[in-house]
Amino acid sequence: EKYIYSFNGEETEGDASQMNLLGGKGANLAEMARLGIPVPPGFTITTECCNAYLQSGGDYPKGYADQLEEALTRLERSMGLTFGDPDNPLLVSCRSGGRQSMPGMMETVLNVGLTTETIPGLIKKTGNGRFVYDSYRRLIMMYSDVVMEKAEGIETENGNAIRPQLERILSAFKETRGVESDAELSEEDLKEICIRFNKKVIQVLGREFPDSPRAQLEGAIGAVFKSWNGKRARSYRRIENIADNWGTGVTVQAMVFGNMGETSATGVAFTRNPATGENTFFGEWLPNAQGEDVVAGLRTPSPINEATKREKNKAVQSLEAAMPDAYRELESIRHTLEQHYKEMLDIEFTIQKERLFMLQCRVGKRTGTASMVMAMEMLDEGLIDEVTAIKRVKPHQLNELLHPIVDPDEERRAKCLTEGLPAGPGGAFGHLAFTSDEAVKLAKTHPHVILVREETNPEDIEGMRAASGILTARGGMTSHAALVARGWGKCCIVGAGGITIHPSLKKMTIDGTTFKQGDILTLNGTRGRVYEGKLNMVDATEDPRFQGFMEMADKYRTMGVRANADTREDALVAKSYGAQGIGLFRTEHMFYSAGPEDPLFILQKIILSDTESERRSAILELAPFVKQEIKNTMEAMDAMPVTIRTLDPPLHEFVPHARAKQMELAEALGVDLNEIKRRCESLQESNPMMGHRGVRLGISFPDITEMQVRAVFEATAELAKSGHHPQPEIMIPVTCDVNELVFVRKIVNRICEDVARQHGLAGLVYKFGTMIEIPRAALRARQMAELAEFFSFGTNDLTQLTYGFSRDDAGEFMPTYLENKILPADPFQTLDPRGVGELIKIAVERGRKTRPDLKIGICGEHGGDPASVRFCYKAGLDYVSCSPYRIPIARLAAAHAAI
Ligand code: PEP
Ligand code: MG
Repeated sequence: EKYIYSFNGEETEGDASQMNLLGGKGANLAEMARLGIPVPPGFTITTECCNAYLQSGGDYPKGYADQLEEALTRLERSMGLTFGDPDNPLLVSCRSGGRQSMPGMMETVLNVGLTTETIPGLIKKTGNGRFVYDSYRRLIMMYSDVVMEKAEGIETENGNAIRPQLERILSAFKETRGVESDAELSEEDLKEICIRFNKKVIQVLGREFPDSPRAQLEGAIGAVFKSWNGKRARSYRRIENIADNWGTGVTVQAMVFGNMGETSATGVAFTRNPATGENTFFGEWLPNAQGEDVVAGLRTPSPINEATKREKNKAVQSLEAAMPDAYRELESIRHTLEQHYKEMLDIEFTIQKERLFMLQCRVGKRTGTASMVMAMEMLDEGLIDEVTAIKRVKPHQLNELLHPIVDPDEERRAKCLTEGLPAGPGGAFGHLAFTSDEAVKLAKTHPHVILVREETNPEDIEGMRAASGILTARGGMTSHAALVARGWGKCCIVGAGGITIHPSLKKMTIDGTTFKQGDILTLNGTRGRVYEGKLNMVDATEDPRFQGFMEMADKYRTMGVRANADTREDALVAKSYGAQGIGLFRTEHMFYSAGPEDPLFILQKIILSDTESERRSAILELAPFVKQEIKNTMEAMDAMPVTIRTLDPPLHEFVPHARAKQMELAEALGVDLNEIKRRCESLQESNPMMGHRGVRLGISFPDITEMQVRAVFEATAELAKSGHHPQPEIMIPVTCDVNELVFVRKIVNRICEDVARQHGLAGLVYKFGTMIEIPRAALRARQMAELAEFFSFGTNDLTQLTYGFSRDDAGEFMPTYLENKILPADPFQTLDPRGVGELIKIAVERGRKTRPDLKIGICGEHGGDPASVRFCYKAGLDYVSCSPYRIPIARLAAAHAAI
């Protein structure tokens, strides 16, 4: 079996299609080499080798060793250098690269091959001792941490990690020399630092830093493989839903040096702006540095070109100005890559003595806004077609476009505390937390948390996830925090140099003002501005490009999208987002506000009245309210269908439990308070979700059903007479047997005729249907469809009753179930295709046998979940219905399903 694939100018073995085998980095390096782009030669060890290595507990598969020898020889030949040769030494880097990018979550070791034997040769060859010792001190720092301590698990003295101790040596040395940056240290300084580093390694790890190139290479490859199972990589995979068995590739590549002096540099760029989508080359660079300096956020890099230099950055020099030739070549590679991949790419480059090399390219992470903007612009440029453009935007990314931003009016009036780089869009406010753990803890009790960190560190992944916004004092637009935040569409500001953080004291200062853990700040991640206290958020305004994108998606969509809405206001919002009707109007929502004038009070009178006449007069009193609400909503939707569901919740939910309310009611009904109390208590059920609710109420209290049905028909008749086109659909909830429908249908028929006659109309147009929320109803779909003209799956209840999980109590055990992988996902959030989905398929098939034109939809929460929408499409549903704000997501998900 082949475990190693070489790439170099002359002969390249892999290509971009082998992402799964070579990982993203390896596959794309091979592709770039094929395109004639300058890439330092190297080879990639496959993800299969990684899996074999990890499964065997650290043994390489058969054949690997010979292949490694061969690949190394090939690399040496193409470089004209020899690994470990004292006169002409080859140095290599070892980098990770999974199928899907996991920025900063796995390990990298650079400058492998530097030893006491090769150092003098390299100094002689390059004439640059400063550079050689700078590279060596980096190797010791990375290797002792990543390989010796983390991968090989060597115990440190008193449990103090090696890396910070080496960092302290470096800072102390800089201090004694009175310099600020590493670049100001001399060759002698760096040599001395390396000596101290080596001593420290022995002292802390009890072992010498390996002085053999082979040992270094072996250690580095193993460490990269092992980092696949590191804590932060595992956390990231869980959040991003990346499979644990994909494994990482390792790319071993000839080193090129960005730290060879002022004509050398390193940088990271995006072929278009990843935050806004704008078609401008966007990147950052650092002179005289190695790649880790940029991504780790240790130094704040400068913009690569003049166009993206921001106001306050006037002082810094762009790559375009400093090395115009290298910049022009980079621009041309940008063009070549975009034309070839037809995508926005994220690239890493190094300039060694003015010579440009590409170290990586991959499809770049971007915000939702940027996804949409790029898709539309690439379509205009003729780079991609409509279907590709539609697929470029993930449905959930639309969340962000509809995401809150800081209210511009409030922002204008507020005083900006400090500024940083706008790394993740939108606005966020929240209580401050200074560590990842604190953020996670705080988020349990406070929905809005801002995580504040000194620099961007992949270890903070859980806290970043839990926070509403992220703020760091150091780092650039391409640092880990920025990449991760953008991927999640999360508000994020990095490199806010004006803040001083004291994590151990849980506080920070900005301009002399102290902010403690729990204090509230607001971030504007689109502008990079920080404000004291809470500023209000508003919805992002409607972008015509967004509208154009959605209209294009609609051309490919075949399944309808409706809204769950119970008021005129919600109906209008839903319509503005493109709803094609209302799939669920929950009558009970009009009883959720509790003033003395509100319909709830009248409903309570109906429920608690004792005599028939009291009851009848209360029903008459309630009817106009119900009619008005339904009429308002149907009028707002006009010619579109509106599915009105009869009263569903158990009656005890509507009776007062507070003494004052009970007294008020006692007075209104002219009965004793104790009597009211008794009647309220008599409505208590031990299992109300499976009790007296839904159609059962409609059958026990036919006069309540009658009143609701009359309200629907009167609203319909009045609207029809005033020139509207009402399309009511009466829907019966929580049914399990066709005889329930027979019972209700009789009432519906009678009232319909009655209302038509009263209004002098020949008849009224409407549909009669049922929800499918009980497994038995799904199984009996053939009979149900004899009466029902439509089905709507109430997957909230259907999930509850299929699993036997109470939808109100599942929060207690669901996290444990998910952690232990007993269930792959929360079935209340994403539809369970195997059980609940099976029932849906059965019901669709059996229902349509009886009635081929049976209209079928879904109105449970799943109607706005992209994966569930895809399932519904495959199951042959006519429409999905979801909350108004999720309509664009459902529309796009339905378009994706259809193409
Ligand atoms: C459902 O059960 O899925 C549904 C839409 O009804 P409700 O959530 O009101 O019970
Ligand atoms: Mg229900």
